[in-house]
Amino acid sequence: MTKTMDYYEILGVDKNATKDELKKAFRQKARQYHPDVNKAPDAADKFKEIGKAYETLSDDNKRQIYDRYGEDGLTNAGFNPNTFNMGDIDLSDIFSSFFGGGFGFSRGYEAQANAPQRGDDLRLDIQIEFEESCFGCEKEIKIRHLEPCESCNSTGVDPNAKDTVCPVCHGQGRVQKSTQTILGSFTSVTTCPNCHGSGKNPKSFCKTCRGAGSVEREKKLTIKIPHGIEHGSKMRVANEGNSGLNGGRSGDLYVVVHVKPSKEFTREGFDIYTELEISNLQAVLGDTVTIKTIHGQAQLNIPRGSQNEDKLTLKNEGVPYLGSTSQKGNHYVILKVVIPQKISAQEEKLYKELLELSRAQQDGIIDRVKSVLNK
Ligand SMILES: [Zn+2]
Ligand SMILES: [Zn+2]
Repeated sequence: MTKTMDYYEILGVDKNATKDELKKAFRQKARQYHPDVNKAPDAADKFKEIGKAYETLSDDNKRQIYDRYGEDGLTNAGFNPNTFNMGDIDLSDIFSSFFGGGFGFSRGYEAQANAPQRGDDLRLDIQIEFEESCFGCEKEIKIRHLEPCESCNSTGVDPNAKDTVCPVCHGQGRVQKSTQTILGSFTSVTTCPNCHGSGKNPKSFCKTCRGAGSVEREKKLTIKIPHGIEHGSKMRVANEGNSGLNGGRSGDLYVVVHVKPSKEFTREGFDIYTELEISNLQAVLGDTVTIKTIHGQAQLNIPRGSQNEDKLTLKNEGVPYLGSTSQKGNHYVILKVVIPQKISAQEEKLYKELLELSRAQQDGIIDRVKSVLNK
């Protein structure tokens, strides 16, 4: 169901309002509720209602029907009051036609043709070794980016050219054209087809950069990758993106660092994890072994009675913290106790002796428990 609206009330005029009064009221209300100005959530709806009311009342025929029969009358007469659609009309065009423009809307072509524009940021992906990510490195990289054109001092215009201003838009970079819309005749503004918005005469373009003001060049850079950097980290290299336009500053280069996985080490944060296979005898008796860390070799003490999956810690043998000169993570060793599947005859003899000893101990415990219970 469409709710019935009082068009006069919407525009804030009385029933006898003249065409001039209607127009004045519409301008005032439209300015108040223009969605680019009024940030209230219902401003766009209000703005549409205002447009709809004005569209009806400014047409003598429609106004007559509306006065006598209301909105339903318009529908019955074949006018659909809801066909009014602001979506087809550029709102800032309505403004420039009513208020002479200069209202400061954030539209692309509102920007001055010669305003400074920041250059684009660029991205480069590089791959480094696991060890390089732990201890840092220097990498030489090659990039292609836009640099300011030296021939024209990045103006895009040949320094010897005469008529440098676009004759079509007179340097504005945009041109006005009139279009008929449901609200009447409106002036819309588009990018100048002759200079594509630069405001410069294409005949005067710099030969080197063809008017762009910048040229693509390959550049070699040496970048320092800090120790402790993690896989997927993004490093910003300031001002090595594309050069800006009209004196705008250059964009930045983002280097995304991919770290090759290590065959020996697993990294979690600044800690290193490795697995170590030990025999059941080492687990029972304990041992001291030499293991490989990212820093070289280290002695690892396996305590007596170690269990499968026990986690042993080598303090400060992990990855140096990013940005720290002294702090490091730990190296954790996960024990994997391996039960021998083949044993020698001599070993078998010894294992059997151990088994008998263990049984005798068990029996002894049971006998002692029994004697305590029988007392
Ligand atoms: Zn032009
Ligand atoms: Zn140039």
